[in-house]
Amino acid sequence: MHTRVAIIGSGPAGLTAALYAARASLAPLVIRGLQPGGLIATTSEVENYPGFVHGIGGFELADNIEQQAKRFGAEYRDTLITSIDASSRPFKLLTDDGDVITADTVIVSTGASPRKLDVPGEDRLANRGVSYCATCDGFFFRDKRAVVVGGGNSALDEGLFLTRFVTELVIVHRRDSLRADQILQDRAMSNPKVRFIWDSAVEEILGENNVTGVKIRNLKTGELSDLPTEGVFPYIGHTPNTKIFNGLLTLDENGYIAADAHQRTNIPGIFAAGDVVDHVYRQAITAAGEGCKASMEAVWYLAAQDYADQLKVTAAN
Ligand SMILES: Cc1cc2nc3c(=O)[nH]c(=O)nc-3n(C[C@H](O)[C@H](O)[C@H](O)COP(=O)(O)OP(=O)(O)OC[C@H]3O[C@@H](n4cnc5c(N)ncnc54)[C@H](O)[C@@H]3O)c2cc1C
Repeated sequence: MHTRVAIIGSGPAGLTAALYAARASLAPLVIRGLQPGGLIATTSEVENYPGFVHGIGGFELADNIEQQAKRFGAEYRDTLITSIDASSRPFKLLTDDGDVITADTVIVSTGASPRKLDVPGEDRLANRGVSYCATCDGFFFRDKRAVVVGGGNSALDEGLFLTRFVTELVIVHRRDSLRADQILQDRAMSNPKVRFIWDSAVEEILGENNVTGVKIRNLKTGELSDLPTEGVFPYIGHTPNTKIFNGLLTLDENGYIAADAHQRTNIPGIFAAGDVVDHVYRQAITAAGEGCKASMEAVWYLAAQDYADQLKVTAAN
């Protein structure tokens, strides 16, 4: 199968890229992967995506963009891409069911997955008190208590954001000192709502239908204790979904795709957008914005290629 624009990933970045390429009459093919709709589709309520006065369900938001792009000719396929051959044009994308898709341009929007604590209760209570995005979900914890797990910049930054809402924020960290920048440490240490529990790890997240607490182990003494809380925010890092691009696309020191301000990668014709590039903002709207940019660049790239091909034909005649 051949497509002019192959889009790997169906989160806000990929779906917005599809919308723009479809409206340019390019009938893009979106390879949806294991998580149709992307991370946003896994969250119940999105209150910060512009245009929805009363918020919108995450699944509904992704589904809306998907249908919107479909209306203009985007196509979807439920498979995984396992590798890209960029040694000749068109690009060859290998799927996990053994097919080869050829494409004139590729937009990579495979996202980044939050690292999990891997403890009992974490999956069961996801979106019921367990969240991986304080910027997104902090508002729902007004006048409640929350626990942040981690000791890096994200843990402190997002924890400090949570103090706008919560009555108490406990930061649980495995060590007795933080990795975060000094300025964040100073802000956290001087915030009256913040309390630290050092040398400790969360062993279990407690609660039937919603989070009611966490079980904590002191890693030095082995002592177990229960800490009541309504919210748990694991901030132990994200893993960019870039394994399959290793050796093909230039990655930064954290494994994210290195794209320029035009979403161009090191390979002409391959663009990257969304959380697979961005380890700072990680929002649906920023991912959608980059998807739009990548798609417009892909459209211009194809137009330039088509024009060059035309010139060759004219010269040959
Ligand atoms: C719990 C939670 C709540 C959130 N709430 C909000 C919120 O309220 N507001 C907000 O703005 N943001 C929120 N976010 C952040 C937001 O979801 C992300 O920033 C956004 O989804 C990133 O979009 P993306 O398209 O870059 O990647 P993703 O949404 O991560 O999508 C990645 C896509 O790539 C696909 N994929 C991966 N590998 C392959 C492969 N090899 N082949 C084919 N497909 C592949 C996946 O199936 C998926 O479709 C939340 C995040 C979480 C975790």
